[in-house]
Parts: sequence; structure tokens; C-alpha cells
Amino acid sequence: MTALHWFRRDLRIGDNPALMAAADSGDVLPVFVLDPDLWESAGTPRRAYLVSSLRALDEQLGGHLVVRHGRPDAVIPALAAEVEAEAVHIATDAAPTGRGRDRRVEDALDVPLIRTGSPYAVTPGRVRTGGGEGYKVFTPFRRAWQDHGWHSPAPDQHAARRRLQLVDGVRSDDLPRAEPPEGLTLPEAGEEAALDRWAQMLAGPLAQYKAERDRPDLDSTSRLSVPLKWGEIHPRTILADLAHRRSVAADTFRGQIAWRDFHADVLFHSPSARDTSLTTVLPEDSWAEGADERHALETWAAGRTGYPLVDAGMRQLLAEGWMHNRVRMVVASFLVKDLHVRWQRGAEHFMAWLVDGDVPQNQLNWQWVAGTGRDAAPYFRVFNPVRQGLTYDPEGRYVRRWVPELRDIPGKAVHEPWKLPESAAPDYPAPMVDHAAERAATLDAYQEHRRR
Ligand SMILES: Cc1cc2nc3c(=O)[nH]c(=O)nc-3n(C[C@H](O)[C@H](O)[C@H](O)COP(=O)(O)OP(=O)(O)OC[C@H]3O[C@@H](n4cnc5c(N)ncnc54)[C@H](O)[C@@H]3O)c2cc1C
Repeated sequence: MTALHWFRRDLRIGDNPALMAAADSGDVLPVFVLDPDLWESAGTPRRAYLVSSLRALDEQLGGHLVVRHGRPDAVIPALAAEVEAEAVHIATDAAPTGRGRDRRVEDALDVPLIRTGSPYAVTPGRVRTGGGEGYKVFTPFRRAWQDHGWHSPAPDQHAARRRLQLVDGVRSDDLPRAEPPEGLTLPEAGEEAALDRWAQMLAGPLAQYKAERDRPDLDSTSRLSVPLKWGEIHPRTILADLAHRRSVAADTFRGQIAWRDFHADVLFHSPSARDTSLTTVLPEDSWAEGADERHALETWAAGRTGYPLVDAGMRQLLAEGWMHNRVRMVVASFLVKDLHVRWQRGAEHFMAWLVDGDVPQNQLNWQWVAGTGRDAAPYFRVFNPVRQGLTYDPEGRYVRRWVPELRDIPGKAVHEPWKLPESAAPDYPAPMVDHAAERAATLDAYQEHRRR
């Protein structure tokens, strides 16, 4: 008997229950479909990373990964017929687009499409209130999520490799050439790299995670968002390791994994949250439009706002395809509440550049900052980019690292270059707006909306 395993957001062989379900039913044909719709929408950094990750996966599979270009509802049934597969195995995709695609593939197949597991600790939609609804607030979700629990990890990569009998001799299309944009350095892709990164986190920074996770200058977070996005590591592998450590730091880290599950769950129950605010916070006419919006977006995206922490973050994004979480919140708040640009525009820019760019996490985090999401920061909370810099980058190291025009300014003075003589940073722009004035305008518009 032969089974297809269709890899999507699970580019690993260890702790992969859907792959093991395929292995249990016979010889396995491992497949990845390069869907032109997803490829086009992925953004250059993510495309380049995906190709590296597929190369790493193919190596783990001894060169047996079959890549085909085309629409999954044509490619998967054709391949299943070609190798006379008895079933096609996948991990559940809970996101709106993925659910639609999988239904179309299922309709086009003559054999069963078998779903096992998902990219989350708990599959979205499973944790429900007593009334059978999705949770709207994070803390009770987290409690119910923890009570629901999750399976232990499936066999690791070595055990999985031993169990897999792979089908030989099936034609594979070439992987496309995909270079990252000039100036952007990608992290190493693949399951091995992901497991190494997690091992390093466990051995060192995890102990200080609670105290240091908000400090972009310390590089003290795991950077696992990228392998988690692509499924090069499963959250359950992480949770199983954390279960052996009874510390506040481990619990804080587990909380972040719970946020990831929460956002996927919110999107599962409210698919419109991808594009539409879950709560309206401002009158429609208070957002920037046309040339004003374009200018604001371009200046922000280039890291030329004149606010050092914002600019450092935006430039880290262009250089690494990644940004520290605290800085993501600051730059997002700045775009929405200081420049009055709709969150959807910022989310779009992030999706074009983030290697971990992921619809549930990106859109729901933007909604959180914009005050429009479930359990979001209240709209009247406006991040002060200077105070955030002084608190979370107290020596100014993060800013100096990413904004070369400010490299000669020592210490925390780097967060307020306008207080220094112009000769201190002649090439750095003056602030494009006055934060205090824009904050006041935002709060006025918010009050106006509440009055209507
Ligand atoms: C505006 C905005 C957009 C974002 N877009 C994305 C995105 O597209 N993809 C993405 O994976 N994350 C996104 N995040 C969440 C968060 O910034 C990143 O997950 C985190 O910075 C990744 O770094 P890390 O792996 O070192 O995190 P760590 O601090 O090491 O956290 C461990 C893991 O917990 C999860 N996690 C941490 N914080 C969050 C959070 N706020 N929401 C959900 N999960 C979280 C991630 O999977 C992360 O890898 C966004 C946050 C904001 C404010």
C-alpha cells in the first residue's frame, strides 16, 4: 500500500503525527506542492526561506521529496492516481484559506484525505467555553487550553526516519530560484537548525526569559517564530521540554505559545478578522488617505520617521526579515496611532517582509496593538516611542546597531537626538510628527467615535 504525505506547514519529520499516520499505512510518497497563489503572496524573504527549508527537508528524506508546481486540487489527485495511493495524509490547516483549499482537494480526490494533528498544541476550534463558543479573552482561554492538554510528541526525527519506507522513482519538479532581497540575511532553515536553536534557548536564555524577553538589545528571545511558522519544530516538542522545568520563566514561555494558539483560535471562529477590525475604534474619516497615507507608510517602512526605536525596528525588518516583539508593538502603534494609518496597511508590509509572517499571528497582533482585536490593548494605550526606548533599550545599543546615522551618540541620549546639536547626527531626519500632538489627536478621534 502507498500513502501520500502532503507537507505544508509541517516541514519536519520528527514529531509529525500526520507523517507517522502515513507511514503506518504503507510506503510513503512525501510531497510538497508549490501553489502559485501562495507563492505569489509570500513575499521575497519567505519564498527564499521556504526554498531553503524544502532543501533541508529533502536532504532528511534522502532526496525523496517530490515537489510539484500547480494548484493542489489538480496536483494532489493526479499524484495520488500516479502512484495508486490509498490515502493522502495532511496536518489540519485551520486558517480560512487553507480550509477552503483542503475542501477542494478532498472533493477532487478518489481516496480519503486524512487529517492528523495541526501546527498548534491544540487544534483551533477545540477549546470552547461552557456555552460551546470560542474564547474572546486570553486568560480564560489559556486556562482552558492548559486543562485541555495536548498529546506527547510523536517519534523524533531519528525514529521517524527508521519508520519511513519512501517511494522511489517519482518525478519531481525543480525548486524555483529564490534569493532574499539584497541586504537581507536569512536564518538557517530546516528541522536540525530549529532543534539546535531550541536547545540553545533551553541551555541559556530561557532562565532569564521573563526578565529579559522585552529587551531588544539583549537578543534574549528564542527566534523560534520562523521555524514554528514553517513547522520545522512543533509547539508540542517545546511544551514537552518546558513541562520538565518548573520555573516562572518556563511558564512565561508557555504563555507565549498559548498566545500563538489563541490567535489561531480567534481566526478560526472569526475568519473575517484577517482583513476586518473585530471592533471599530475610530470614525472612518479619521484615517490618513491618498498621498498622506502613502507618504506616512513609505517613511515608516524605510525607517526614516525620526524616532530612533521605530526606525531601528523597521530597519531590522529589512535586514533580517524579523523584528523583536516589543519593537513590533512600538512600530505598529506608531503607524496606527501617530501616523493614523489603518492597521491593515502595516500588516501588509509586515507580511511582505517577515520570514515568520503568518496570517493569524500577524493580523491578530496588529489588531491587538490597534485596539480592534479580541482582548486587545485598549485603543487609548498609545506607545510612547521615546519612553519605550529608554525602558527597553536603556543603553541605546539596539538603536545604534540598526541606525548607523546615530552610531556616534553614546548611551541613552540616542533615543532623543533632537536634543543634541545637529552636528551629532547630521544625516538622521527630524521627527516626522510630534508624538504628543498625534497622541492627543488619536484620543480625540476615539472620544468622538464613542460619542457617536
Ligand atoms: C504587529 C505584530 C505583528 C506580528 N506578526 C507576527 C507574525 O507574522 N508571525 C509570528 O509568528 N509572530 C508575530 N508576532 C508576534 C511576535 O512578535 C513574534 O512571534 C515574536 O517576536 C517572535 O520572536 P521569538 O520567536 O524570539 O519569540 P519568543 O519570545 O521566543 O516567543 C516564543 C514563541 O511564542 C510565540 N509568541 C511570542 N509572542 C507572541 C505573540 N505576541 N503572539 C503570538 N505568538 C507569540 C511565537 O511563536 C514565538 O516564537 C507579531 C507581533 C506584533 C506586535
